[in-house]
Amino acid sequence: MKLQILGCHGGELPACRTTCFLVDDVLALDAGALTSTLSLEQLCQVDDIIVGHSHFDHVKDLPLMADLIIGRRDKPVTIHASRECARALRENMFNNALWPDFTRIPTRKEPVLRIKAFRAGSTFQVGPYTVQSVPVHHPVESCGFVITRGRSSLAMSGDTGPTDKLWKVLNQTPTLKALLIETSFPNALQQLADVSGHLTPRTLQSELEKFERDEGTSVLLYHLKPAFVQQVKKEVANMPVEVLELGDTFEF
Ligand SMILES: [Zn+2]
Ligand SMILES: [Zn+2]
Repeated sequence: MKLQILGCHGGELPACRTTCFLVDDVLALDAGALTSTLSLEQLCQVDDIIVGHSHFDHVKDLPLMADLIIGRRDKPVTIHASRECARALRENMFNNALWPDFTRIPTRKEPVLRIKAFRAGSTFQVGPYTVQSVPVHHPVESCGFVITRGRSSLAMSGDTGPTDKLWKVLNQTPTLKALLIETSFPNALQQLADVSGHLTPRTLQSELEKFERDEGTSVLLYHLKPAFVQQVKKEVANMPVEVLELGDTFEF
């Protein structure tokens, strides 16, 4: 699997982009940096987008992308979203008020977008990828994912505070090559992180103690809030983790 880091921050500024990972050019994980990083031609190649939860920084490019690719593909782009997230997208985004309902444009039969709901915790197939969703801990229904193709798996935590479920699943995934995990705030903002369902370096450290990590598995941090990138990097400097950077590319 080829993994490209299009967005890896918890907010947007000229040097920061919100969460968006691209697998093999065709599968996007979250939609925080699609239209700001991909060419029109590359956007049209994306067949599936898996979104972990409904918060704006993870879904914000869906409406703009729909508008750009209309008439340029012969099948709809499928958005895979948990039931609550799917409902939020239908009711609050593609509701003909905030944005047109691109699941019925240009026609009901051949729309630009298809929203396919999954049950949080279920496993489903997206083309050659097996996707295991794992409910995590956040103010809205939020999922992490384990994506497996052949003998390689990669996992992303989604937005989450401390959780047990994710580690249980990861400890049962011998093919895991990389874990992308959120770390949003510095330790000084622990209380804010706790109430908003996010991790700091401190809680990341205690979470990693639950991880029966294989030597070859990379732990890659994302969702750093732009105002605290330098601070968080300092606080994780002695931990066995790497902070993702825009444009990073991996092959698993
Ligand atoms: Zn977020
Ligand atoms: Zn969130």
